[in-house]
Amino acid sequence: MEYKSFIGGAWEETSNSTPNINPSDISDTLGHAAVSEVADMDRAIDAAHTAGAVWAGSTPQQRFDVLDFIGTEILARKAELGELLSREEGKTLPEGIGEAARAGQIFKFFAGETLRQTGDVLASVRPNVGVDVTRSPVGVVGLITPWNFPIAIPAWKIAPALAFGNAVVLKPAELVPASAHALAEIISRSGLPEGVFNLVFGRGSQVGPRMIASNKVNAISFTGSVPTGRGIAAECGQLLKKVQLEMGGKNPMVVLDDADLDIAVETCVNGAFFSTGQRCTASSRLIVTEGIYDNFVSAVEARLAGLNVGHALRADTHIGPVVDEKQLAQDLEYVDIAAKEGGKVVGGQRLNRDTEGFFMAPALVTETTNSMRINQEEVFGPVASVVKVKDYDEALAVANDTEFGLSSGICTTSLKHATHYKANAEAGMVMVNLPTAGVDYHVPFGGTKGSSFGSREQGTYAAEFYTRVKTSYTQA
Ligand code: ADP
Repeated sequence: MEYKSFIGGAWEETSNSTPNINPSDISDTLGHAAVSEVADMDRAIDAAHTAGAVWAGSTPQQRFDVLDFIGTEILARKAELGELLSREEGKTLPEGIGEAARAGQIFKFFAGETLRQTGDVLASVRPNVGVDVTRSPVGVVGLITPWNFPIAIPAWKIAPALAFGNAVVLKPAELVPASAHALAEIISRSGLPEGVFNLVFGRGSQVGPRMIASNKVNAISFTGSVPTGRGIAAECGQLLKKVQLEMGGKNPMVVLDDADLDIAVETCVNGAFFSTGQRCTASSRLIVTEGIYDNFVSAVEARLAGLNVGHALRADTHIGPVVDEKQLAQDLEYVDIAAKEGGKVVGGQRLNRDTEGFFMAPALVTETTNSMRINQEEVFGPVASVVKVKDYDEALAVANDTEFGLSSGICTTSLKHATHYKANAEAGMVMVNLPTAGVDYHVPFGGTKGSSFGSREQGTYAAEFYTRVKTSYTQA
């Protein structure tokens, strides 16, 4: 399979391509992705710029029909798209199908939003004057996406972009071209005018800066690593370009003495290790009060011992492989760092399976303190550490003692502590008796502190990023 870039309504070959390798079985090459150059990016931006003017004038019905078509097809093909996603990214098949379904639901949600775009009409403070506040498209939006949610993250940027009348250039992550290509192929048949949606494969460090620097790209929505995000924000600041960033997390999950132990164990194991821990919302710091600590740690260790790490497409696999060799090396290095800092590690070694892939046993690191690197730096793998604390107050302080602020959770049966935690956790999302990862598609997603920058993604709040506000005054 050749994954070509999609520019101005045409699929384009390139002289260079890179293989798309299955992390569960490196002898399985799914296909080859185009490596587009900056000149291709320029043409995609030009196409979006030209077509964007037409799409900005489209009716809500036209936008609804396009988004509804895309959402309907993704949902109808969720099993096939989910399998493709699991094969290229390594999450388990149920996780892959779940993600594909989510992408479909997001398009359906924003199809509905096309019919609900409103403004405000107000009386002026001056006599015989009316005021109306309206939203209009931003123009061309550049979308840069990571490898860990290969279809859902592009979906939650593309769907609102199109719903609010913008043209799109998508630059997906190099590791997961198949999902982006499949999504683009569906979009290409949706009735969207040529050039409104463009997909440019290629190296992020090469075509990415070109997209950001272009004066025809009016806004950038980025999800990825902190260093790349910071660089993009700096550049956009210089250019006074609208920008939205979703980056890392070091998400705490507090477990109090009064928690239901079974719920706490399930919540922590799911949040920390499912999807191989490769979620920016993963629970990587488990902060546990001393009364439940011993029971909690032994129950989590027992639960981990019962989980199968293996090929993502096997029915008995609970945890798929790490995405690639580089990420696996980083995960193993952090396990090593944690041990050298004095942590006690259970699991965390590379595993061999029938197929050659990037398999790693989930690692639980106990006897850590919050100042250790393992508790301050994002690993982005199946690694969680445990910090023992005296009581709720110390738990909250430790939970907030991080430069990140994406998602924050607590397991407790106390209404008082749950209520206090929701109000005082320094995070964009708070979970009570639920994993820090796993969110709904119709409400805002995003963080505070070093995790996010700019306005929220998803739900009705997406309008903030994908539109400009205009205030008009009329004298009768
Ligand atoms: P990760 O470590 O998860 O791969 P990155 O931040 O490197 O995170 O990548 C996220 C996305 O950003 C990818 O699509 C990648 O190609 C893109 N990217 C990487 N470097 C740049 C850059 N300098 N400018 C714009 N996009 C970039």
